[in-house]
Amino acid sequence: MDESQARKLIVEIGKLLYDRSYVVSSDGNVSIRLSDDRVLATPTMMSKGRMTEADLAVTDMDGKAVTDKRASSELAMHLLIYKMRPDIKAVCHAHPPHGTAFAVAGLAIDKPILSEVILTLGCVPLAEYGTPSTDELTEAMKPFVRHHNALLMANHGAVAYGEDLWQAFDRLETLEHTANIAILAKALGGANDLPQDAIKKLIEIREKAGYLKADARCQACGYLHEAGIVCDLDVVYPGQSKSNGNKISFTREELIELLSQAAKLS
Ligand SMILES: [Zn+2]
Repeated sequence: MDESQARKLIVEIGKLLYDRSYVVSSDGNVSIRLSDDRVLATPTMMSKGRMTEADLAVTDMDGKAVTDKRASSELAMHLLIYKMRPDIKAVCHAHPPHGTAFAVAGLAIDKPILSEVILTLGCVPLAEYGTPSTDELTEAMKPFVRHHNALLMANHGAVAYGEDLWQAFDRLETLEHTANIAILAKALGGANDLPQDAIKKLIEIREKAGYLKADARCQACGYLHEAGIVCDLDVVYPGQSKSNGNKISFTREELIELLSQAAKLS
């Protein structure tokens, strides 16, 4: 994609974010990685619903402007993701109300309630609160970026990323839709979790389909941690102990064996 196509696409996605109430006022920011050392990003202090292609800023990988337009002050979040994930070409940050309600309530979106979400997005962890546009925020995100394609940031909002901007936007939308359904189900008496053997099958399907690599299996740890299975990353889910002394890790084969034993018992 060349720069002029990327500019058009960011303006289009900005309008969608605004029209769908995922952002208000000058909230949120969107970027596309143009090359190894160039990022095209939304400008600071401007509504995502009213941007033009000429308003967008271009920076290097350290966030330094290379044109006269200033990028969003939250660009550091995008640059962290680009540096940690060479596969990622676009980032979408917004404050969608239902997803952000989870972030404000201190909850990850990690309940295995929707089969297609397990297939396409996996669990969405909650990064601890960090002041926007400071190192605190990027430090809090670091443990999760490698194995997740969308994150919640406590008392702030959500970020999703992908191989292109449509994929990043779709992931953000799936996050918001899932949060909305979870809240509605709670009002109806509570959501039923999928059983662990069904989750295992879904994880195998998504690995076969290439939605998720096997080495990112710990992306599912949020779904499986109630069974006492946690990943090898330094990731803490709400309700889990922060102490590494309680951490148990399994190889892929051990995990499958354990899950199939559990399925036989239940
Ligand atoms: Zn924000």
